[in-house]
Amino acid sequence: MIERESLEVDVLFVGAGPASLAGALKLRQLINAHNEQSEKTGGKSLGEISICVIEKGREVGAHMCSGAVMDIRVLKELLPNYEELGAPLESEVTEEDVSYLTETGKIKSPIIPPPLNNHGKYVVSLNKLIRWLGPIVEAAGVDIYPEFPGAAVLYDDNNQVIGVQTGDKGIGKDGEPRDNFEPGANLLAKVTVFGEGPRGSLTKKLVEKLKLDQGRNPQVYSTGVKEIWEMPKGRVKPGFVMHSLGYPLPNDTYGGSFIYGMQNDLLDVGLVVGLDYRNPHTDPHKLFQQFKSHPHIAKMLEGGKMLYYGAKTVPMGGYFAQPKYYGDGFCIIGDSASFLNSQKLKGIHLAMQSGVYAAQAIFEALLADKYDDAQLKRYYDLVEGSYIKKELYEVRNFHQAFEKGRIWGLIESGLQYITGGAGVRGDLRDVKAGHEHMQKINGAPDPAPLQADKKLTFDKLTDVYHASVEHSEDQPSHLKILDPNICIERCTKEYGNPCQHFCPAAVYEVEEVNGGRRPKVNFSNCVHCKTCDIMDPYQIIDWVTPEGGGGPNYINT
Ligand code: SF4
Repeated sequence: MIERESLEVDVLFVGAGPASLAGALKLRQLINAHNEQSEKTGGKSLGEISICVIEKGREVGAHMCSGAVMDIRVLKELLPNYEELGAPLESEVTEEDVSYLTETGKIKSPIIPPPLNNHGKYVVSLNKLIRWLGPIVEAAGVDIYPEFPGAAVLYDDNNQVIGVQTGDKGIGKDGEPRDNFEPGANLLAKVTVFGEGPRGSLTKKLVEKLKLDQGRNPQVYSTGVKEIWEMPKGRVKPGFVMHSLGYPLPNDTYGGSFIYGMQNDLLDVGLVVGLDYRNPHTDPHKLFQQFKSHPHIAKMLEGGKMLYYGAKTVPMGGYFAQPKYYGDGFCIIGDSASFLNSQKLKGIHLAMQSGVYAAQAIFEALLADKYDDAQLKRYYDLVEGSYIKKELYEVRNFHQAFEKGRIWGLIESGLQYITGGAGVRGDLRDVKAGHEHMQKINGAPDPAPLQADKKLTFDKLTDVYHASVEHSEDQPSHLKILDPNICIERCTKEYGNPCQHFCPAAVYEVEEVNGGRRPKVNFSNCVHCKTCDIMDPYQIIDWVTPEGGGGPNYINT
């Protein structure tokens, strides 16, 4: 039995993404304003309230990756002097292009469909934004601890969440403690706020244990794969935004591309692939390389140089797939609670706003000194009475419309737009989880591997190098295959080991050993996208947090 230190804080945020940082900052602002007012009026002050954020990455922002056009309304409200503070907004959107790609051609839409109109929004690098915001939140009086992953949720005897156990350091790959062993601590809090991003490892366990997804649609995701390119001087228009549908995605695969113009001649290029595809050979990274090889895109990238790589999942299930996001001692915010508009592919403002509403509810809970389900329901009520509800409700059936393929999806989502979200079939609640759409291979041979030219197209390992991924090799794998026998005895035959294809970082292989075959997990390549945890057809891959500080060190993504 490992002895663990217990540390008490008032409010604990897990994950230093946009939702948590906005929430922590708002909470600090509310407490400070209240205490100042109390001092003036002789009212009851809340006194010293400790707010702590833990983050698994080696720095705040290290794991942030998103092709992002951002609605900055929440940023403006939280920090009205955001310009003076040097907010790293790349550019207001200046030019838009929505196109359909055939194998060799490009058909540009004569109008920008209203849901894709980004007028007044800003191209940003989420990574730069969070690296900027972190120190501001810290300076406001929030303690932020990078390299502290949440390893387990702590409950009391009544299943009230009472905090989080942080990860151990210095456990060797054989599971034994090394000389530098440091046990994780029990961080105890009145309220724990889970803002771990999509498919958060603690949120997943919390949702399962407390059945927070009962009566909800299963969550569905997409994987986004992207590269940042440096282009010859003067070629990139900051604020240029292009989205495309079509090539290289087959009709039964949801997704599309994005290209955003940034400052300093950088182009943000990416492809989003729905994780509810049919073909088990689907490889989002390879599809992205094919996308760049399209004549129009290849021409656009001519003369440029790939600098950075990243991959991340995005929750697409929307309003009906949101778990119950509050309860005894906890709130769930941001992507972890599916606060993302899948039609517009925008979630940063909703993530931040959800953090702000959670902060308001927690502030009121601190005043009442009550932290149970009934008190924290205030967070849900604030969301339901806000533009978040309106925005998500209008697109509540959007992703489901594409279950029958792209053509039908475009028609139905158009009708949904006209009918305020209902479309022709009403609310679509009878949907399957993404991995359940995967079809068996039926003897189809493995597809030919990508022939990367290392100028325009890159193999997975080269791309992973550009994500600056690091994990200590002497630690247990954080990718737990719960039953390795299934991999060889069933999965090879039934699905052709799709982990080798869907992982955008070449983590999974099947190796021959002594005449037999076994799965090999190159966990140190992992970019923490969570695709494997989501898309494994048997749901036997469990992504848990590695030792603190492991993972990518994203820059500009
Ligand atoms: Fe993503 Fe899983 Fe591959 Fe890591 S191992 S990069 S989480 S698919």
